[in-house]
This record gives sequence, structure tokens and C-alpha cells, in this order.
Amino acid sequence: MMIVMQEGATEAQIQAVVDRIAEAGARAHLSRGEFVTVIGAIGDDRELVAQLDLLGEPGVEKVVPILKPYKIVSREFRHGDRVVDVAGRRFGGGAFGLIAGPCTVEDREQTLSTARAVKAAGASLLRGGAYKPRTSPYTFQGLGKPALEILAEAREETGLPVVTEVMDLRQLEDVLEVADVIQLGARNMQNFDLLREVGRTDRPVLLKKGLANTIEEWLLSAEYVAKEGNDQIILCERGIRTFETATRSTLDISAVPVAKQLSCLPVIVDPSHAAGRRDLILPMARAAVVAGADGLIVEVHPAPEHALCDGPQQIRSDTFAAWVADVKRCVDLMGLVMTGGEPVPAAV
Ligand code: PEP
Ligand code: MN
Repeated sequence: MMIVMQEGATEAQIQAVVDRIAEAGARAHLSRGEFVTVIGAIGDDRELVAQLDLLGEPGVEKVVPILKPYKIVSREFRHGDRVVDVAGRRFGGGAFGLIAGPCTVEDREQTLSTARAVKAAGASLLRGGAYKPRTSPYTFQGLGKPALEILAEAREETGLPVVTEVMDLRQLEDVLEVADVIQLGARNMQNFDLLREVGRTDRPVLLKKGLANTIEEWLLSAEYVAKEGNDQIILCERGIRTFETATRSTLDISAVPVAKQLSCLPVIVDPSHAAGRRDLILPMARAAVVAGADGLIVEVHPAPEHALCDGPQQIRSDTFAAWVADVKRCVDLMGLVMTGGEPVPAAV
């Protein structure tokens, strides 16, 4: 629930409310506005409202229960957008972020050349997997730690912050050495121990929606992260399992406006994994932007025909600048500002 303090409430009055929340076994989350302080009591609202009889206490203006099962990430909790800032590249609140790079780090040259291409095309962040969640145990599983070192070198050279996936708690320490954003993949959306552990870090998180999960489950997973203290979360729609076989997954475009109505977090779209086909990435990306997405994450490779993973859906790096220029027109149409990266060249 939220406790809205009166304008001019004193520090002692605010602290008294925070102490009462702690005594009730809940966690207080302070948000100080220009005039008013709002204190979130994070716990089960049904119990808290009864337990914490705060109405009428000195300095308390009103007590508002949050009815949704997720609290910190809900729009009820924070009326404005939660803007996630990654070294000056912003997602949400009118800012649009473009994440691009290979599906997986295959070698130094492939990654560095892709990093240069996506930087020149105007990307805000570089993506690249070191640990890969592959359906078959016989396919390329990612280079692991050496890939992280290559990603660090790519960031050093291009200045692009790095997004990379952690699949398992045992990888977290190494991933934290390099990642500017920690990716939690679709298959790990409900790995609750991993969510909690990532929530204890200071790093922004990219949380993908599971292949067969509801929007409510997705937001509850975000709440697992936020509850531990880290609410720098970017939600990512990446397609869901349906009966359709023409595409790899079905892009759930309505998840974008629905998640944005329910949650204060930025929502981005991954058209690459949704479509699984290079020819559909551009129309899906355009649709995502116009549906209100706060960013995109796409796969780019210098020679997709030789890619070790997800070749059919990776955009050729020498065509990426034209691709970005096209998407940029939709970004402009929506009145969003693309942050970070280089100026985007005109359409070719
Ligand atoms: C990825 O982004 O590399 C990936 C494996 O995505 P997802 O978890 O959405 O399948
Ligand atoms: Mn991939």
C-alpha cells in the first residue's frame, strides 16, 4: 500500500511511518516528490492495511491500498514512467533505446565488427550472448567467460554499454564484471532464485517475457527483482508460443500497451526472436514502435549464413544502418527521442 504524506510533513513524521512499516515486517520504499513524500509499504496489502492503522497519524494525508498482486512495478505505485538509464542511454518516459548485436559472441572479429556496425548505425547498446539457452544440448552453447572478455573489449572500443544474459546463479559473478545490463531470458523468467539474486545487484535488468507466460506472471517476476531493491527493470516482449508455425513465435504486440498500462516500467520488443525470420524483423519493429514500445533489441551479424546460432533471424550488419533509418522514422513519428549512439544516417 501507499502512504501519501501531507505537504510539509516533517522528517520525524516520515521516519515514524517507516518505523511502523518495518515493525509490521514489511519494507518501506520512499519516493520524495517536490512537495509530497509517498511511502510504499511492500508486503501483502490485505494484511498490511489491517495491521498498519496509519490513517490519522501525524503527517499522514491518505493511505491507498495497491490492489494489483505486483506493487513496486505497478502503475498504481508510481504514476510517472520508471526511466531506466544505462550510462546515459534511456528507456521510457519518452526516451527510446535500441539494443543491437549478435545473438552470441562467436569470436573476437565477429563481435568487434558487429559492434562497430551497430554503433555507426546509431544503436544505444550492444547485445551479445556468452551463455546461451539452446534447445538442443548438441548445438553451440556459447563461449562463456572468454565471450565476456570480448564484450568488454567491444565496449572499450565503441563506448557502447553491454547487455548480456545470465542463465544461472553460478555465472552471475562473472557476468557482473562486464554487463551494463543483465539479461534474464525468456526461459528463466520464472527462475525465482535468479530473479531475487539479480534484484540484489545494482545493475539494470532486461527481463524477457516467457514463451508461455501471462503478462501478470511477467510483472510478478519483475516484482521479484524490484522487491530486492533493484527496480531498474526493462520489460521485453519476445514472442509467445501459439499454434502458428509460419513464424518462430507469435509477437504479442498487445503485450506492449497492456504492460505499459499496468506497469510503470519501460517495455521493449525483440522482433528477432519473435519472428525468427529476417524479412519480418523490420515490419515487426515498426509495429512495436507504433504500439508504444520504449525500445527494441535486435540481432545483427556480419555473415548470418555462417552464424553459430539464430542465423535466419540476424540482420546483416552491412544493411543495418538502412534498417535503423527506417525504424527511426517510426520513432520520430511517435515523438520519442533515441538516446545514445551516433546520429542515424538517412535511409538508403
Ligand atoms: C537471446 O536474446 O539471445 C535469447 C535467447 O532470447 P530469449 O530468451 O527471448 O529466447
Ligand atoms: Mn538469438
